[in-house]
Amino acid sequence: MSVTGSFQLMKSLNRSLILNTIRLNGPISRAEIAKRTKLTPPTVTNLVAELLESKLVRESEIGVSKGGRKPILLTINWKSSYVIGLDVGGHRATAVLTDLNAEIEIQKMKSLPTKLTVDSLLQFLITMIDTLIEESGIPKKKVLGIGIGMHGIVNHSEGVGVFAPNFNLTNIPIKDVLQTQFSIPTFVENDARALTLGESWFGNGVGFENIICVNLGVGIGAGVILQNELFHGRNGIAGEIGHMIVDLHGSKCSCGSYGCLQTVAGGEVLKERVGKELTTGRRSIIQDKANMNGGTITGELIHQCAIEGDSLAIEVLAETGRLLGVGLTNMINFMNPDRIIVGGGMAKAKEFILNPLKDVVRSRALTSEARETDIVLSKLGDQGTVIGAVTLVLKSLYTHSY
Ligand SMILES: [Zn+2]
Repeated sequence: MSVTGSFQLMKSLNRSLILNTIRLNGPISRAEIAKRTKLTPPTVTNLVAELLESKLVRESEIGVSKGGRKPILLTINWKSSYVIGLDVGGHRATAVLTDLNAEIEIQKMKSLPTKLTVDSLLQFLITMIDTLIEESGIPKKKVLGIGIGMHGIVNHSEGVGVFAPNFNLTNIPIKDVLQTQFSIPTFVENDARALTLGESWFGNGVGFENIICVNLGVGIGAGVILQNELFHGRNGIAGEIGHMIVDLHGSKCSCGSYGCLQTVAGGEVLKERVGKELTTGRRSIIQDKANMNGGTITGELIHQCAIEGDSLAIEVLAETGRLLGVGLTNMINFMNPDRIIVGGGMAKAKEFILNPLKDVVRSRALTSEARETDIVLSKLGDQGTVIGAVTLVLKSLYTHSY
């Protein structure tokens, strides 16, 4: 049976249920699967036989006998098939090929050209996937699915990039074009939501039903998981907290509105604030380091200066943290999540942003429980979105839902 065939096999809910039970509890016996899934033993035996034939599952060691014959245990055959994930950011794309447990086999990163059309972007992605498969040495027929975490507004059910602000492109038919090109099932999601799903399955969201995962970069996005499922909203804009209005009389945002959270707490604003302070003649080692860096002030550089005790660097990061804290306090009062996960480039400043952020939540959220809301950094870091893109495929395989 071909791999695409075995993916089709998962179109049965019960097969996915058994596969996911083996994923979460393996090595596990057929009898134990029947007990946990409440399926009848003959049903389990039949479906397991199909899974064994598809090579997605294999028999492993012998279990402990409770009297009588020792049961044969089943486990996922992690490297029987592979998944491709892509993180298409504003400036660069990252691609990985992983096994069925999201373990990375090979990773590639490429800067995106500055001028892109819908066609040239799609061609860029095709070339990247081709190169990845070729360099991995893994036959294409073993690739089970392709997941894409795309920046901007995404229609996930159609697999279309509705609007990609960094490229100024609209209506990018990602799923259609990639599926036609590779004949591999393809899933597309907004990058912040992909990151959220990745954290939920393989990161700091494991075990929590309701989470908000915030992606701090040039823009500020978030993904929301409600009762273990991603929440999209009617038009896929749920979670766009960067455009939460925090200042009625604020400056103009890229979205056309005024005073959005990302106009006061986005990555670019952080650098602008530093630049402004320096022009007033304020002393800071940021200036010296930037001079060595060809005059460029980066987020990384500001963080480094904060570590070295520079007061301006510490001050601007804290201000950003407090403003993000305002946005997150609003989110906590609105949704009352189990946990908030903070990721993205700016999250690398760690405690310099996170502590002031938590201070605002701890003093301003509605109730004592809300003020204690668990706020942690992303576990997957730079690979969060790309692992999330892989998880789009794995979720469909293991839970028969997307
Ligand atoms: Zn805005």
